[in-house]
Amino acid sequence: MLVINSGSSSFKYQLLDMATERTLASGLVERIGEAVGVARHTVYATPTDGPAPAFLDATRTRELPIPDHTAGFAVMLEAFASDGPSLDEQPPVAVGHRVVHGGARFFEPTLITPLVEINIDELSVLAPLHNPANLAGIRAARRAFPDVPHVAVFDTAFHQTLAPAAFTYAIDAEVAASHRIRRYGFHGTSHKFVSEAAAAFLGRPLDELKQIVFHLGNGASVTAIDGGRSIDTSMGFTPLEGLVMGTRSGDIDPAVLLQLTRRAGMDVDALDDLLNKRSGLLGLAGSNDLRDIRAGIERGDERAVLAFEVYVHRLRAYAGAYLAQLGGADVISFTAGVGENTPLVRAGALETLGFAGVEIDPDRNESPDRGIRVISTDASRVTVLVVPTDEELEIARQTLAVSRA
Ligand code: ADP
Repeated sequence: MLVINSGSSSFKYQLLDMATERTLASGLVERIGEAVGVARHTVYATPTDGPAPAFLDATRTRELPIPDHTAGFAVMLEAFASDGPSLDEQPPVAVGHRVVHGGARFFEPTLITPLVEINIDELSVLAPLHNPANLAGIRAARRAFPDVPHVAVFDTAFHQTLAPAAFTYAIDAEVAASHRIRRYGFHGTSHKFVSEAAAAFLGRPLDELKQIVFHLGNGASVTAIDGGRSIDTSMGFTPLEGLVMGTRSGDIDPAVLLQLTRRAGMDVDALDDLLNKRSGLLGLAGSNDLRDIRAGIERGDERAVLAFEVYVHRLRAYAGAYLAQLGGADVISFTAGVGENTPLVRAGALETLGFAGVEIDPDRNESPDRGIRVISTDASRVTVLVVPTDEELEIARQTLAVSRA
């Protein structure tokens, strides 16, 4: 299975063996359209029967002009041909594509046809940065692999189960309808993967669990999941709403924008730039990387301390809100770069939730272990987990299911 995640000037790929769900190779083609592009290809040696090394990596980086996505796929094919694994000997059975916005139209992984391409293109109105880039990858990939099914897996799809009460904004209904203004939610592939992995890890049926999943990466969102169905999520019409993120503000009084328009002379593009690129941890403390914030706190940098407190205050507010929406939770999971690696954030987010049966074990929380693990005490009524996310694997699984159907 080949998985493609295409951006406007780059794409990532991963080749997986679905019998073992192992990654065989991965790569990144970037700076497409610039004078010199970069292509990196990594091959993972298949573990033999013997002991470690389980993952023997070999990475090769090439620099060459890559004028467009089609040229990028040619470079990728050359890398497979020269460094392996050979796609001639074992071609992918299907190609899975990450697509950011499926609107209210796509609620499950979908076999890509010319009509589906038109729909993804039309949804660019809602995701002008992402959908055209995803589509460029799809078109180039279909040229490179014309004989296999291509499947689109949408970031929004998992949240199509939200009830109207959860997805409707309280604005003039006609204005909202004519511009398709509603909450869509994002990071769905990760929230689905993590909630299913948590249920499997605990050996409990997914449909009996109330779960809260915190996906805390550079972008961040939290989802309330009841019996495997998303019932509320913090990102909305766009990925700007909700939690404090690396560079995005998350929730803010919309009147702030009116004020900045009237008083600071900021136009739409300036506001877009402010809220999406110059806010969040970066805006508060000068770095979007939580490791820098942590270092700043240790140095006694007041801006870093405040940024961290604002970040955690918001996490706690959503934890409380989603406990209320679900009527209590069985499992709370943390995932992605910050969620998987920052005990201080996890502890801060849940610190006050003892009354709701949430009790973190400090030693388990601080443990440097990788992999899925419990960080709550044995007595905690709510099980708290760290669950490494794997969006590529989830896309590959969904693609396999569709291509077999
Ligand atoms: P993306 O949202 O871009 O996919 P990731 O899930 O990889 O991002 O998360 C990226 C963020 O995770 C970084 O900005 C950084 O703040 C944080 N991060 C990554 N590794 C660590 C670490 N070891 N300790 C603390 N934070 C980390």
